[in-house]
Amino acid sequence: MIRLLLIGPPGAGKGTQAAELAKYFGIPAISTGDIFRENVRNETELGLKAKAFMDRGEYVPDSLTNELVRDRLSKPDAQVGFLLDGFPRTIDQVTELDQILHDSNKKLDAVVQLTADGDELVRRLSGRALEQGRSDDTPDVIQRRLSVYEEQTAPLIDVYVSRGAVAMIDGLGDVEEVTGRIIEALAARGFSK
Ligand code: ADP
Repeated sequence: MIRLLLIGPPGAGKGTQAAELAKYFGIPAISTGDIFRENVRNETELGLKAKAFMDRGEYVPDSLTNELVRDRLSKPDAQVGFLLDGFPRTIDQVTELDQILHDSNKKLDAVVQLTADGDELVRRLSGRALEQGRSDDTPDVIQRRLSVYEEQTAPLIDVYVSRGAVAMIDGLGDVEEVTGRIIEALAARGFSK
């Protein structure tokens, strides 16, 4: 049983590592980006609201995001543990997550910070644009997402560092190599499957 956050800039490989870690620990990987994209695809009310923000590389408003996460974390599969990929991304979301955990008498076990330098991030995101055709992987929107991350999300790492919860992991290298680093860092903190 483990409750994890995965934080890092767009292109750091959060989605890929989230899937690996979820398999390893037997917990659900909950990606707010994936949930928003699914809602956009299905043209739900939430999807219609979120799309305009996503297409500009801006964050979806906290009120919508927080409600979505509170609901998702209340589902049965998230009671055995979870990995949140891409949440929290703002101070308001940190406060909401604290409240959700407090309300259910749970606590966070670790925060994995995935790092990669700026050039590598742009290279990966541009490559993905060609493969997947995500509407927010165009050059302008990629730049916007990277700067929104620096402004709004990078500062959250200090909040979690001050709580002693952060494992900083180099996101460069093969997928398995990076997964190995994360698993090792978590094992060193006493968390293994
Ligand atoms: P990336 O990390 O590559 O930017 P994501 O799939 O995590 O990709 O997010 C895609 C988009 O979904 C974000 O740019 C944002 O518009 C929206 N989004 C995802 N998570 C959040 C969040 N926690 N708060 C606000 N918006 C979010």
